[in-house]
Amino acid sequence: MSAPVTRQTFDEVMVPNYAPAAFVPVKGEGSRLWDQQGKEYIDFASGIAVTSLGHLHPELTKVLHEQVDRLWHLSNTFTNEPALRLARRLTETTFAEKVFFCNSGAEANEAALKLARRYAFDHFGGSKTGIVSCKQAFHGRTLFTVSVGGQPKYTEGFAPLPGDLNHIEFNNLEAAEAAINAGTCAVIVEPVQGEGGVLPATKAYLQKLRELCDKHNALLIFDEVQIGVGRSGALYAYQAYGVTPDILTSAKALGNGFPVAAMLTSNKVAASFVVGTHGSTYGGNPMACVVADKVLELIDTPEVLAGVGKRHDLIKAGLERINAKYGIFKEVRGMGLLMGAELQGEFHNKAKDIVNAAAKHGLLVLVAGTNVLRIVPSLIIPEADLQEGLARLEATVAELVSKVEAKQAQPA
Ligand SMILES: *Cc1c(COP(=O)(O)O)cnc(C)c1O
Repeated sequence: MSAPVTRQTFDEVMVPNYAPAAFVPVKGEGSRLWDQQGKEYIDFASGIAVTSLGHLHPELTKVLHEQVDRLWHLSNTFTNEPALRLARRLTETTFAEKVFFCNSGAEANEAALKLARRYAFDHFGGSKTGIVSCKQAFHGRTLFTVSVGGQPKYTEGFAPLPGDLNHIEFNNLEAAEAAINAGTCAVIVEPVQGEGGVLPATKAYLQKLRELCDKHNALLIFDEVQIGVGRSGALYAYQAYGVTPDILTSAKALGNGFPVAAMLTSNKVAASFVVGTHGSTYGGNPMACVVADKVLELIDTPEVLAGVGKRHDLIKAGLERINAKYGIFKEVRGMGLLMGAELQGEFHNKAKDIVNAAAKHGLLVLVAGTNVLRIVPSLIIPEADLQEGLARLEATVAELVSKVEAKQAQPA
């Protein structure tokens, strides 16, 4: 047998674009993970809002095992039953009439943006190419999506970038009014900005974008890669907001860890992707689609969706309890189970330090930027695990605060 692999191996053989934690998880079950040393963790990170039904959900494992023994891959030279079933379910449960499958959030957004350009080209000629997006937005890491995203640090050094892009301030109605015009082919927005700091859009803002898109014949794209598939408390956040986009992108939780993504749209818009205009070798892969179909079946129930709101309230109360003692949060916010705690005082911009310390206490949480702690547990995390996770977070904060106090008490 070859030598064992450890965290050290990462630095030796992997491209250094990530800085993974010091430990290596090897096993998961529900909302718990175990590392190579057998240390156990409560999972408030869900593989970045992906494992919304927890790890190794028995019904997902079952359908995947069955598919593994039947058929792995065909390509889009043929269609396949799991993809057709999944597409039918997505069209029955949302505004959409047509579905395109791919493998990641970035690819779904890439498809959405290309479709919007192509639709404008077909219907209005070649000069309606403008794409309006929001500052601090995150839409993926392909060159197009990273350029449309509103975080300059992610495009630095990658020029020349795709053109006719305009970034406006999120939740600012006047800025939207000023930016969206006859030259705009699409407006793309996350109903809740995830990576940008866990910031929900106001209903008035999404309504305004809808109104401006209608006025100027632009397509409204909702990037629901992070908030979609139940995390908002509705199957898709657009349903909770009561504002319907022309194109919606879904990934992350859609496969609960099996790579799969979808772009949803209307018949009219879909018509611009005629044969040959776009594609993906793996898009609609049968293994991915059986898993996603079961994920949607399990999440789109009144019990699971109502459970999101209950857990939101428990986490909010827990974070506020911690804050009443230690005062480290400026604000606790979010929608459903995409929650953020903005830091202040001694902990301003120290989100990563808290994440690292929490892991030592057996809790996995995320950052959203440098100043927000992001909490995205499974939608079905048992209440006992949730409370244990909050207790571990409190122990983490208590330790960090006492370290700061000890340092301050030292004579200069
Ligand atoms: C994660 C994310 C993406 C990118 O998804 P990938 O699967 O990493 O390509 C796009 N948009 C949003 C809102 C995301 O959170």
